[in-house]
Amino acid sequence: MDGYGDKGMKGKTAVVTGSTSGIGAAMAAAFAAEGANIVINGLGDAAEIEKGRAALGAAHGVQVIYHGADMTRPEEIEDLIRTAEGQFGSVDILVNNAGIQHTAPIEDFPVDKWNAVIAINLSAAFHGMRAVLPGMKTRGWGRIINVASAHGLVASVNKSAYVAAKHGIVGLTKVAALENAQSGVTCNAICPGWVKTPLVVAQIEARAKANGTSVEDETQALLLEKQPSGQFTTVEQLAGAAVFLCGDAASNMTGTTVTLDGGWTAQ
Ligand code: NAD
Repeated sequence: MDGYGDKGMKGKTAVVTGSTSGIGAAMAAAFAAEGANIVINGLGDAAEIEKGRAALGAAHGVQVIYHGADMTRPEEIEDLIRTAEGQFGSVDILVNNAGIQHTAPIEDFPVDKWNAVIAINLSAAFHGMRAVLPGMKTRGWGRIINVASAHGLVASVNKSAYVAAKHGIVGLTKVAALENAQSGVTCNAICPGWVKTPLVVAQIEARAKANGTSVEDETQALLLEKQPSGQFTTVEQLAGAAVFLCGDAASNMTGTTVTLDGGWTAQ
């Protein structure tokens, strides 16, 4: 059987953008546990990143390298992929996960924030894909996973750039799936609802400050406004979905969205 199956991901290489924190870190850890070699990427304290990199490799007996490509810079994204290919011989799995948020009404939305959100949350995935696709197609196997959002399917106020980028990446996912439908390369999007990572903790803290309420009250309010389950989606659940998308059971699954949002988009 070609590709990932009973043997796990041994011998495969996974690049996960934005994997120094949150969802990306959990996905990188899950792939490492399956035996893949990993390329970590993202911002953060250099010593902390190095500690995490070494610990991940040691825990699972895989090779883990770090590349600090800034997702706003196409040439650095290209270098990330070429470095991974140079080190491991191939990039078999690409997770476009790096993302940022900024909230403001359209008329007050700073142009530099708009440009940054679109660059990191949408354009970076395009640049990553165009760098990995030739190799994946030549080898006849590849998995591209785009971390979109419930906001790739529905909108919320004050999130124009984020919603535009996430809807955009759902569309980009479909195009990549169609263009590569017979090549052994699949492309799917994962759409999380609320997940308690630094990206969301910052939004909860901002709400508490603006409303003069507690973080606990705002956490409950934020969940219940959108997510009928009243529970956060966990990073481990999202990592499980990513592992599934790399498996044989998902080999004829392409161009779709996998939603883990506690019922948010069912409403
Ligand atoms: P996070 O803030 O914990 O992690 C974001 C990661 O992106 C970090 O590793 C950060 O260093 C990296 N990053 C940011 N700017 C970068 C840049 N210019 N270059 C390289 N890396 C950069 O957030 P998270 O919640 O884990 O978010 C991961 C993805 O999940 C994002 O695409 C986000 O939109 C999406 N998402 C999150 C939630 C949620 O509720 N947390 C919900 C839906 C979708």
